[in-house]
Amino acid sequence: MKVKFWGTRGSIATPGPSTIRYGGNTTCLEVLFEDGSRIILDAGTGIRKLGQELMETSGQSPVHLFLTHAHWDHIQGFPFFAPAYDRKTRICVYGFQQAYDRLREILTNQMESKFFPVNFNDLNADIQFVKITGEAYSIGATKIQAIACNHPGTAHGFRITENGRSLVFLTDNELRPPTDVITDWPDFVDFCSGADLLIHDAMYTDKELETRQGWGHSSHLQAVDLALEAGVGTCVLFHHDPDRDDDMVDAILQDCAARINNAKSSVRCLAAVEDDTLDI
Ligand SMILES: [Zn+2]
Ligand SMILES: [Zn+2]
Repeated sequence: MKVKFWGTRGSIATPGPSTIRYGGNTTCLEVLFEDGSRIILDAGTGIRKLGQELMETSGQSPVHLFLTHAHWDHIQGFPFFAPAYDRKTRICVYGFQQAYDRLREILTNQMESKFFPVNFNDLNADIQFVKITGEAYSIGATKIQAIACNHPGTAHGFRITENGRSLVFLTDNELRPPTDVITDWPDFVDFCSGADLLIHDAMYTDKELETRQGWGHSSHLQAVDLALEAGVGTCVLFHHDPDRDDDMVDAILQDCAARINNAKSSVRCLAAVEDDTLDI
């Protein structure tokens, strides 16, 4: 299994020289499986380039798109996703439980003529919405489990397992919210336990988090602490704050390395880099 980062940024796209190393596009990941199939996680602005690549390669249909939630930075690339305009493509959009109820409406509404020149109903692809009511879903030999995140408006994270290897994707998640706890720390530890790769929201520093509690995001050190306690192999910091330039991300990584060193752990810690692919 491999994961490719098409968008790593949180909240809003941030192109420019100060973000060129870690990337400026918002959330979009492609997970490639051993059997040649793939799923897409989120449809932030990074999905535009992925769509171009899919159009150039054969076998892009069906497209399996899992959405964590419907905030702008996770859906705004969808109107620019070229396969959605292709009559030969079938797209399955998956939503877990509560999040599903708003997905169709929001994806459709963001393409109303007030906001966008092409109407959702005029897209040529066969687009289906799939509601996942249980805690797990299978595509071929791949198992996808979900967990509710602590995030305003609800969001879900995923654990994706193929041939005994696991990837956990938890973006837009406040690990220790002050109130309204949906999922608490021990449940996140269980969900991530023994994962080979954990990609986690690391939007804030601990200092920034002091004034942003309840906004639905975590600090980089909280992400590392989760990786340490859950015994994951590699922790990838994700959803970089739009005000975080590349040098600041480097400093955050040093902070994480010190934490891991203090814990005498061998957890590897990286920051997500747009266009990079990691083997799992
Ligand atoms: Zn976000
Ligand atoms: Zn969000």
